[in-house]
Amino acid sequence: MLAEANYSGMSGASGATPLVSARGISKHFVLHETLLARYLAGAKDRAVRAVDGVSLDVYPGETLSLVGESGCGKSTLGRTIVGLYEPTSGQVMFDGRPLSGPDALPRASLRRQAQIIFQNPYSSLNPRHTVRQILGVALAARGVPTRERGAETIALLRRVGLSVEHIDRYPHQFSGGQRQRIGVARALATRPRFVVADEPLSSLDVSVQAQIINLLQELQEDLGLAYLFITHDLRVVYHISHRVAVMYLGQVVEVAPTDELFENPLHPYTQALLSAIPSIERHRRRRRIILDGTVPTPIDPPLGCRFHPRCPRRAHRCEEDPPELEQVAEGPGSRSHLVRCHLAASH
Ligand code: SF4
Repeated sequence: MLAEANYSGMSGASGATPLVSARGISKHFVLHETLLARYLAGAKDRAVRAVDGVSLDVYPGETLSLVGESGCGKSTLGRTIVGLYEPTSGQVMFDGRPLSGPDALPRASLRRQAQIIFQNPYSSLNPRHTVRQILGVALAARGVPTRERGAETIALLRRVGLSVEHIDRYPHQFSGGQRQRIGVARALATRPRFVVADEPLSSLDVSVQAQIINLLQELQEDLGLAYLFITHDLRVVYHISHRVAVMYLGQVVEVAPTDELFENPLHPYTQALLSAIPSIERHRRRRRIILDGTVPTPIDPPLGCRFHPRCPRRAHRCEEDPPELEQVAEGPGSRSHLVRCHLAASH
């Protein structure tokens, strides 16, 4: 195994430096428990360790997909990276500026440059506001004068495949796919450089999913957007991502370019995830790996390697010694292959 990954100063394949860098991000949610529960826990405040020490880069114009089972911390990490949650520890840098501290990027600037598309477009759109009002709020955040917002709103609607007739309708008057298009338009209204797409397809029919994927890819090509694409659908990941990061129980366990990850997954958890998608033709012969047990609770994660209770390859060392995320293949930042496993080098 090569030396531990040194993220600082890494360059992407295109020579780019990261647009977004998360360094040692943790996000813990303290539980407000009853006295009895606290007594049973030894009178200590317990916390859900949703994200624990994650470092990750997103490069300009790329799609980095974040995958893993429900509850692994994907959405919490995405929301922390765009500033919706304060990290418990660690730092997020946007275009070289920290999001907190004396030199912090102003919140208004972050809100313009970094946007999020939510999983459920219906609950994320104000049901009492028309499309004109919903997009008007986002345009105001960009400083667009009132007299210009009508024309900008129409341009945004056209950009996402809707039309001028939709401008004074309410969210309930649209289909699920159309509502997600409004969510995309709202994200675009501030002219962002970075968008977190948090399971944007999971509430949509398969045929509509393809339309939204195409729309997001077109926008990336035209506008040079960088996406952090959060999903559990590995077939979508395979088709849209430049790189993939795999999360397990609050930690990133593997990061690699998409072709490298699908051809040569090194972490046993990634291998198990990929073994469940036989429909990607050239990976059809992969043996299905069924993991034992359920995901442990993030309130009290296992000692040593967090994956060891379910790992088919665990060794004695894995129960006590937590592995670091280490670089196993040389390459500039966006081509690096990083794995958190003691045995990855002997794969
Ligand atoms: Fe499995 Fe050990 Fe690797 Fe963890 S460190 S993934 S338990 S082999």
